[in-house]
Amino acid sequence: MALQVYSEARGLKTLRDGVTLERYQASYPDAIIANVKGKQPTYATLERWMMDGVARAIDGCSGIEPDGTCSHDQPSWLVALSLI
Ligand SMILES: [Zn+2]
Repeated sequence: MALQVYSEARGLKTLRDGVTLERYQASYPDAIIANVKGKQPTYATLERWMMDGVARAIDGCSGIEPDGTCSHDQPSWLVALSLI
């Protein structure tokens, strides 16, 4: 299965086959493994989170700041999709 990564510069990316996190980190040192659980939220949902000031992280953790990360260092969907 292809590896999903997140970096501040590039956002959420799926690595091509054979590309390791280490290799990606050579270009984007802050990159982390993106532990994505579930489907990407709809834009209506993302908009609602923005309005409410409460969002969900890409690993499913809820109740985080729209521009924040959860306790597992996973970014909110809004950050991962570079919407904030
Ligand atoms: Zn989490």
